[in-house]
Amino acid sequence: MKQRGVTVWFTGLSGAGKTTITQAIEKKLREHDYPVEILDGDIVRENLTKGLGFSKEDRDENIRRIGFVANLLTRHGVIVLVSAISPYREIREEVKARIGDFVEVFVNAPLAVCEDRDVKGLYKKARSGEIKAFTGISDPYEPPLNPEVECRTDLETLDESVKKVWQTLEEMGYLRKPVSV
Ligand code: ADP
Repeated sequence: MKQRGVTVWFTGLSGAGKTTITQAIEKKLREHDYPVEILDGDIVRENLTKGLGFSKEDRDENIRRIGFVANLLTRHGVIVLVSAISPYREIREEVKARIGDFVEVFVNAPLAVCEDRDVKGLYKKARSGEIKAFTGISDPYEPPLNPEVECRTDLETLDESVKKVWQTLEEMGYLRKPVSV
């Protein structure tokens, strides 16, 4: 029996907590010897999708390419953790339909909280106009309508968020270890 792969897709505003949660889940999965990979939007944009910008067209292309790689890994039994703002609903739905084994996690904190955190100092630059087309400020974000998990990172602890995702993966049957016979 092979490990069943799945793509766990974390969407949300910059600073909502996608990277923090995916890294914590990665650590926990590794401790339990699950095959896991992270596709992080910021890192992907430095290599796989280098050269793409932030127009709707380029953002969708970025997500399509991440989805392509996530699908390959998922088919090979990997638990793929995607951390990407992925602001447009339609392309998220397209990737979900293609992969099938897909869990959407809405990492949700109010814009004011994300802006207050300003982890990378990007909101300040977006407000001053130094960065154009910044999601939540000068570019749209379309929240998921029916995510498998919602993490309200302004109201719950990191541990609680991790637990929610973990429980959902368990309930959906993705954390059953292959049994050797
Ligand atoms: P993103 O990857 O969505 O841009 P980051 O993970 O880089 O966001 O930053 C989120 C920030 O919010 C971190 O500084 C993190 O410590 C903080 N934070 C506070 N509560 C939570 C929580 N429950 N889950 C995740 N992050 C949280």
